[in-house]
Amino acid sequence: MRKTYKYRLAPNKTVENKLHWVLARCRELYNAGLSERKDAYRMVGKSITYYDQQNVLPEIKAKIREEYQDIAAHVLQDVLKRLDKAFQRFFDRCAKGQKPGYPRFQGRNRYNSFTYPDGAGWKLDQQTRPPDKKGMVRVNLKLTKIGTVKLHLHRDMIGKVKTLTIKREGEHWYACFSCEVDKPEALPSSYEDVGIDLGVTHFAALSNGEFLENPRHYRRAENKLKKLQESLSRKKRGSHRRAKAVKRVAKAHRKVRNQRADFAHKASRKLVNRYQVIVLEDLTMANLVKQPKPKQDEETGQYLPNGAAAKAGLNKSIADAGWSQFVGMCTYKAAWAGRTLVQVDPKYTSQICPNCGNVRKKTLEERWHSCTCGCELDRDTASAKVILGIGRKQLSVGTRPTRATA
Ligand SMILES: [Zn+2]
Repeated sequence: MRKTYKYRLAPNKTVENKLHWVLARCRELYNAGLSERKDAYRMVGKSITYYDQQNVLPEIKAKIREEYQDIAAHVLQDVLKRLDKAFQRFFDRCAKGQKPGYPRFQGRNRYNSFTYPDGAGWKLDQQTRPPDKKGMVRVNLKLTKIGTVKLHLHRDMIGKVKTLTIKREGEHWYACFSCEVDKPEALPSSYEDVGIDLGVTHFAALSNGEFLENPRHYRRAENKLKKLQESLSRKKRGSHRRAKAVKRVAKAHRKVRNQRADFAHKASRKLVNRYQVIVLEDLTMANLVKQPKPKQDEETGQYLPNGAAAKAGLNKSIADAGWSQFVGMCTYKAAWAGRTLVQVDPKYTSQICPNCGNVRKKTLEERWHSCTCGCELDRDTASAKVILGIGRKQLSVGTRPTRATA
């Protein structure tokens, strides 16, 4: 199993400039590779493969772009691999009949990391520096042809490092070590199961009547962010003040992102520790998050309004809640802990009575489930109970310990 450890880097100015430089060269190579593939296909109908591109790298380095010799060879190969993966995903989507989305050219703000795909080109010096005042181990990370950069090992890395990715987030730099680790021992079995309804009023409703409240970080920070954005738009392009405003905006974004991830980590950890079976909605089936399909004018091929803007408000609050991040965290934490996670089709779950199975359509405003059978519940709690019921049905008998056999 893979586990990623992320550490903040503290590069000095020289090293930081070099990191920016390498990143910019990688982005150029990515875009050049993309344009080569695009042109070859358009002009001669030929598909260029990863190996075609990798094989000309030495020639490019020797004759055309000598500065590429200053970048670790495997890092450059990884850039082309990334491009190849983008194309593989594109072809997969085409094959599945989904909306394809051709691989995109990467702008300065989109392309923000480069990867050492193996142990070549970098080295960690564990013993070179004594722990600091807080007892944190300070380590030197040596990047060939870039320089040495300090990092705080705030938690130990376990397992064998397979890849190292250097990543830029705003003005911060991080080292992400992806490690191959043994699967840990499963948690002791629990006899509690839970169904979870993800919502907007509450972040989630549990089938036992509890709620996970939405931290609403984004909403609260949104006004601040908006003000910062406005302030940014008033600044003159290329000015010193504008550069500062850009940093402030990036910082506000980063804060929201970190808070959201923190919430998702804690909430998913609690659930996985407590429950043996966790049943969630399958978000890929939830049509709420889906974007309306692009509409094209048949004659001119131009894009027409498709109602995407109208849905943006709702989509935003969904993205806000960070559901997919949360589901992702539940999934991998459950796998590590030996828990069972089931995802079910969320269709009709808000309309079925968990007690008698009666189906009655509710409007979005109706917050209470009240059935002729006498079942009285919060609307979301009722959905969570239905979700749990469907999940239990989906699980075949005998896949988990029961009270009787344990
Ligand atoms: Zn009922």
